[in-house]
Amino acid sequence: MALGTPSTRTDRARTVRDLLASGERSYSFEFMAPKTEKGERTLWNAIRRVEAVAPTFVSVTYGAGGSSREGTVRATERIATDTTLTPVAHLTAVNHSLTELRNVIGQYADAGIRNMLALRGDPPGDPLGDWVPHPEGVTYAAELVRLIKESGDFCVGVAAYPEMHPRSTDWDTDIRHFVDKCRAGADFAITQMFFNAEDYLRLRDRVAAASCATPIIPEIMPVTNVRQIERFAQLSNAVFPTELANRILAVKDDPAAVRSIGIEYATELCARLMAEDIPGLHFITLNHSTATLEIYENLGLHQRS
Ligand code: FAD
Repeated sequence: MALGTPSTRTDRARTVRDLLASGERSYSFEFMAPKTEKGERTLWNAIRRVEAVAPTFVSVTYGAGGSSREGTVRATERIATDTTLTPVAHLTAVNHSLTELRNVIGQYADAGIRNMLALRGDPPGDPLGDWVPHPEGVTYAAELVRLIKESGDFCVGVAAYPEMHPRSTDWDTDIRHFVDKCRAGADFAITQMFFNAEDYLRLRDRVAAASCATPIIPEIMPVTNVRQIERFAQLSNAVFPTELANRILAVKDDPAAVRSIGIEYATELCARLMAEDIPGLHFITLNHSTATLEIYENLGLHQRS
């Protein structure tokens, strides 16, 4: 039975690692940590809609601090206990001592969570500011992978960058550090969002050339409004394709047309990737799951459930 099939607790004991090892593809959706009660309601509406298509897993990003982190842990625990979905729990090293990291890992474990995504995180406030590790914490994601693996029988994912991590000076170093995370015990990776299939395929080739076979799941985020063109550039290193930007800007006063172009482009990108030997697809929803569900349906994936 597929990991995400409407299920019992026993099915959910199967990890993302087990599913990928069996040769099945993983299909997943990512949500953001809610910051307000209204945000929490929006998140749960989106989660319930996604639950209907029985994805492999869902995840909630780890907040930058305080209440948004509590929101991440609360939402992830609730996914584990109140839904049929399998959560992959995000965790970052930002402003956490080892003791605090162990506590969060313990909270996730107590909720029955077995899959985690180990991330270093970015400096709060300015993602491109100087990275200062917690004096009693960890400096890089590879150390967090080791910490989680030492803490129990977890399946651990890490981040990968089709256009290179913004702080990496060259590809060789970037790939060497990615492979370090895999050698530290990572079972799978999810990429940063990107717009050109070739960027993903080149990353995959580079990792394979470094004798690393960790499955790398591509992350997809459809553009659904004009403001996102700018936001994409701020959020990631991803180069926004000029041709797509021009198509969107040509209809910028017609929100339905903008959305339709964004969904069409993302569907074509997914189809192009699915023609390759990819381990799955991970969709960023921004807590509004309708656009990603439309892509899911366009690809015929809803018939899996
Ligand atoms: P690392 O793998 O530690 O790499 C960070 C940089 O350090 C890279 O340039 C790497 O080459 C370099 N490096 C690694 N090891 C060494 C070493 N030993 N010596 C020198 N340099 C080294 N952020 C959040 O805050 N919350 C989230 O929930 C979240 N979810 C994400 C999900 C996905 C799928 C992705 C792709 C990113 C996510 N991020 C999230 C963003 C992520 O935290 C940032 O991109 C961050 O800048 C790097 O995290 P990392 O885990 O890749 O770090």
